[in-house]
Amino acid sequence: MEITNASFINEQEISNILQKYSKPSYEQVTDVLAKAREMKGLDLQEVAVLTGISDPLQLHELFQTANHIKDTIYGKRLVLFAPLYISNLCANECVYCAFRAKNKAIVRRSLNQTEVRHETEALIKQGHKRVLLVAGESYPKQGFQYVLDSIRSVYEARYNDSEIRRVNVNVAPLSVDEFKLLKAEKIGTYQIFQETYHHETYKKVHVGGKKMNYDWRATSLHRAMEAGIDDVGIGVLFGLFDYRFELLAMMQHIHELERVFGVGPHTISVPRMEPATGSDIASHPPFAVSDLEFRKIVAILRLAVPYTGIIMSTRETAQMRRETFALGVSQISAGSRTNPGGYEEEVEDDTSGQFSLGDHRPLDEVIRDVAQMGYIPSFCTGCYRLGRTGQDFMDLAKPGAIKAHCGPNALSSFMEYLNNYASPETFSIGVKLIEDTIAEMEGLPRDRARKLVDRVKQGQKDVFC
Ligand code: SAM
Ligand code: SF4
Repeated sequence: MEITNASFINEQEISNILQKYSKPSYEQVTDVLAKAREMKGLDLQEVAVLTGISDPLQLHELFQTANHIKDTIYGKRLVLFAPLYISNLCANECVYCAFRAKNKAIVRRSLNQTEVRHETEALIKQGHKRVLLVAGESYPKQGFQYVLDSIRSVYEARYNDSEIRRVNVNVAPLSVDEFKLLKAEKIGTYQIFQETYHHETYKKVHVGGKKMNYDWRATSLHRAMEAGIDDVGIGVLFGLFDYRFELLAMMQHIHELERVFGVGPHTISVPRMEPATGSDIASHPPFAVSDLEFRKIVAILRLAVPYTGIIMSTRETAQMRRETFALGVSQISAGSRTNPGGYEEEVEDDTSGQFSLGDHRPLDEVIRDVAQMGYIPSFCTGCYRLGRTGQDFMDLAKPGAIKAHCGPNALSSFMEYLNNYASPETFSIGVKLIEDTIAEMEGLPRDRARKLVDRVKQGQKDVFC
């Protein structure tokens, strides 16, 4: 039976907890930070305590704790991906989005399958291996089949014998039967953002179309998991309502998925609202989140759900992205375009894009920057292709064993990037980083890394363990 009731979001409980815990004592904060270091996650009350930190020293401790957890679980890896916007047609009226149906200020376009393949080839040419397929909620005449066809086109596209190896998807909520079709196309993660968990705000900002139905959206990940999609992603559009409320509601959502399916979301996205063509609210968010609050949000999430990946998009500036790597971000997009056709045509176009970007740098520049900071850019898709998803992934990740796979795989996928796509400057910085990293590794991970990287150096592609 399809789950369509989102009563697991309990606003009264959130208000009570925020009232009771959001002005915590020094000792309360210290206790929660100590518990967080055990890396077993936090409950709603503890998250509320962290949102109430105002003392600069304790804020610093929060950031240090987040950094410790990130280093322990994820090491220095940063997974790279690019969004692939296939269509900006939409029947909804989300007041913050340029794609909303009545917005006359943008040019509408949905890519045909040849164009999807060309767009994918442009991404492969840059060195990408993972894409996030994105669309508005209205499809050309083929209906939902358009999305399925597009996923297939992405997987089929080739450039110089290289391919995209994981397609994640961010499209409107589906029924269980539709999710089964999506799974059959071998998608990686299905992600959907609730935008705001606050009912009254949700109603105010979604003024037309199917997206007006809060419960249908909030239960979409239940249906996805019921259909057998193991990896799902959640998110909130920060700026619509009080971030403290949103964090607690997100925790309710996560706990509900853990209760019903035994495993929570694979990723959390933290989009902050950015200016969008034809939207007033997007330029004046009613609950604008400051840069400091944004860093606090990332750090709190790292403590609250240590094993869930945190995704940072190019909505944020290069500087903000750099700052949040240390606080818990594990996946980043790079070289993004939000206008359908934007990669092949090499245009970043506000007249058909979804929102303004904060980081406009091409992939090679982002990779060089990340590597200079000591982070290993990873294009690895090993877990998903070996079936280490959902509960299996969490079982491996929780005792830290994933490090024995992810570390070596990140290095070999990075070496593959350097061999085939990097500029000479990025190549030399990257190779040095790979060798320094292997030198610091020990035991089995080190042996594996050495072997995998050497195989790539000899010209092999797509090697992982
Ligand atoms: N149309 C589908 C939907 O709404 O779920 C999927 C794709 S939608 C293009 C992807 C996400 O973009 C939305 O969930 C929303 O959080 C985000 N978004 C919309 N307008 C934005 C803005 N002005 N700034 C930043 N993110 C925005
Ligand atoms: Fe359409 Fe999604 Fe934009 Fe809403 S957020 S207008 S559903 S594309």
